[in-house]
Amino acid sequence: MEIQNAHRVVVKVGTSTLTHKTGHINIRLMERLVKVLADLKNQGLELVLVTSGAIGVGVGKLGLPSRPSDIPGKQAAAAVGQCELMYLYDKYFSEYNHTVAQVLLTRYSLAKEDGEENVHNTFEALLRMGAIPVVNENDTVATDEIRFGDNDTLSAYVARFISADSLVLLTDIDGLYTANPALDPNATLVTEVTEVDDQLMETAGGAGSSLGTGGMVTKLQAARIATQAGTDMYIINGKNPEGLYDLLEGKQVGTHFAACAAMS
Ligand code: GLU
Repeated sequence: MEIQNAHRVVVKVGTSTLTHKTGHINIRLMERLVKVLADLKNQGLELVLVTSGAIGVGVGKLGLPSRPSDIPGKQAAAAVGQCELMYLYDKYFSEYNHTVAQVLLTRYSLAKEDGEENVHNTFEALLRMGAIPVVNENDTVATDEIRFGDNDTLSAYVARFISADSLVLLTDIDGLYTANPALDPNATLVTEVTEVDDQLMETAGGAGSSLGTGGMVTKLQAARIATQAGTDMYIINGKNPEGLYDLLEGKQVGTHFAACAAMS
């Protein structure tokens, strides 16, 4: 589907976009992002926001020297950071008269009998009521066996559950490059991907920042899940949230992963 005709859109924002290197929230960026999303909702879009940052913000708020590597440490940081995140989203969206709803998911919530249907029904009810679901992994109870592990993957599943028209990943780079632009000056932006094959997966490097958990590999995995479910996916630079306006007006921004033809 052409993005100008999209009605239901999932937007995912990563920790490296949302926070400073200290782990504290990038307030200016968050306010700009919320303003754009509130405005897009005013235009009539149904929006779901998948947000990272719970662990990173918790690390900042607790004044820890670095991101904990043990599970209880991460769970504790997430418990602190998730409150701060939701407090801020609630405050900023309320300024534009929009209501947010916190949705925390684990793989376990989906693996249970009727799990996917339950989640689907909850999203549908929230969207019908006009709320903006703000989704994260339930990091405080998630252990390795029940983790999505990264919000790129989680956002692709969310897009699938609600049959979103588009999934937009906001990240700290303009899109997918032919090579790692930090290392290779000849790297160029790939604007259109029709198939996420193994060779493309190999080209994508590892995770890029110390506070988040994603990287290009998880974004390509997300692209596979989303496009196979009939959702178009885009990677754009989150440092310029206003780029969402251009994208939704059909202008060329970032990288587009085309929904699989049979499904779209
Ligand atoms: N759920 C994690 C958090 O909020 C983020 C996972 C990710 O960075 O993809 O800290």
